[in-house]
Amino acid sequence: MKNWAENITWNPSEIAYPISEEEIQQIVLRAANDRKKIRVIGTGHSFSALCKTDDVLVSLDKFQGLVSSNKDKIQAVVKAGTKLNYLGDLLFEQGMGMENLGDIDVQSIAGTISTGTHGTGTQFGSISTQVIALRFVNGQGEIINCSETENRALFKATQVSMGVMGIITQITLQCVPLYKLRLNIGVTPMGDVLSNLQKHLDKNRNFEFYWMPYTEKLVTKTSNIVENAEVDKVNFFNYWSEYVVENYAFKIICEYARWFPSQNRAVSRLTAKLITEVEKTTYSHKIYATQRLVKFREMEYNIPAEAYLEVWKEVVKTINNGKFNIHFPIENRWVKGDDILMSPAYKRDSAYIACHVYKNKDCQPYFKALEDIFRAYEGRPHWGKMNTLGPIDVAAIYPEFPTFLKHRAEQDPDNIFISPYLQQLLGVE
Ligand SMILES: Cc1cc2nc3c(=O)[nH]c(=O)nc-3n(C[C@H](O)[C@H](O)[C@H](O)COP(=O)(O)OP(=O)(O)OC[C@H]3O[C@@H](n4cnc5c(N)ncnc54)[C@H](O)[C@@H]3O)c2cc1C
Repeated sequence: MKNWAENITWNPSEIAYPISEEEIQQIVLRAANDRKKIRVIGTGHSFSALCKTDDVLVSLDKFQGLVSSNKDKIQAVVKAGTKLNYLGDLLFEQGMGMENLGDIDVQSIAGTISTGTHGTGTQFGSISTQVIALRFVNGQGEIINCSETENRALFKATQVSMGVMGIITQITLQCVPLYKLRLNIGVTPMGDVLSNLQKHLDKNRNFEFYWMPYTEKLVTKTSNIVENAEVDKVNFFNYWSEYVVENYAFKIICEYARWFPSQNRAVSRLTAKLITEVEKTTYSHKIYATQRLVKFREMEYNIPAEAYLEVWKEVVKTINNGKFNIHFPIENRWVKGDDILMSPAYKRDSAYIACHVYKNKDCQPYFKALEDIFRAYEGRPHWGKMNTLGPIDVAAIYPEFPTFLKHRAEQDPDNIFISPYLQQLLGVE
């Protein structure tokens, strides 16, 4: 098996596709009895080795759908394996939407929240903050319910927990009434954006930008609510720009840059020129996500929002002066702080900086150089992305790490959900 990025491969002795919660309990009890380990997989879109196991891999692909909804409270209970794009359609039918989402919508909702996946917008926390209750099967096969009001301490430890508390079976989401967004993509000089950064962040519901390395250009992406606007019909230019150029043309460019590494700077400049303006209006669940067909490796760090400009200057300088074999854009997003123990945005409004390398190239020197910068500013990695942390590093940046470990040990005393990667990351024996 391999993850989406194809940087992690593994060979589980068994893959289970349960269709009910009872079956999930049986899988856990059987593994405990046989002294086997379990890892759960969503869609394998994490770049870190979170899903890797030689023992039992559990997929909830056959455990998807809406369990119930409460239209008055705008809440929905969903099965944990539900994919985000399907979830968007299910909520749409209920007249609801999720307040924010990330760049793609193929992940499972449980996988999404378990790594603290996020979109952008200073008013919004990560997607885990949209969760108000969780139900899971712990390492002893027991069904555990926790929420903002019941077992709250455990809930705060489970909202972002990388699959170490157990197998999440149901997720209750606090949604918002259905809404439409207008998305605008444009190219703007970096100086203009940086000198008005706070204005861009305040003025737009969702604001982010990509920097094309070695250029002075930023690709800005904003989206804002539009109440009475019509939903767009199929637009050939948007399709060309967002699907054909960003995937097929970009793939050719990536291969060229791989074969001719000295051309990376030129390639980045060419990519910046290919970006065209996009304007699109539709329902929220159809607007956040794009299709990503070109495979890459990714490291993304969360840094305190107030340190952003300083960190960004260092990142640009390091890339411009370095001899890194890269041309992939660097993505910058903003997220509101939260109170989830292992969330990278724990107790701080944050900025996220994400760097990517085409899948067939060596990412280590580049990622290491940027990781050193992020860590110097109390950076916390996105759990689903590449990082080099161990338990001492994690303890230094997560004040509630011991509390998290205490809850984990109570839910999984025999460490059924601990793999070698998690041992190395969290220090659990
Ligand atoms: C092309 C691409 C674009 C991306 N864009 C974004 C983005 O915009 N924003 C962002 O923040 N991240 C982004 N990511 C990262 C991605 O959202 C996360 O890695 C996410 O966790 C992947 O979801 P998944 O369903 O594939 O989970 P997996 O990668 O399969 O699993 C992630 C974690 O969730 C656990 N898990 C899964 N299901 C369960 C369950 N039922 N119970 C308990 N634990 C469970 C797994 O054990 C694992 O620890 C992107 C990744 C890719 C490849």
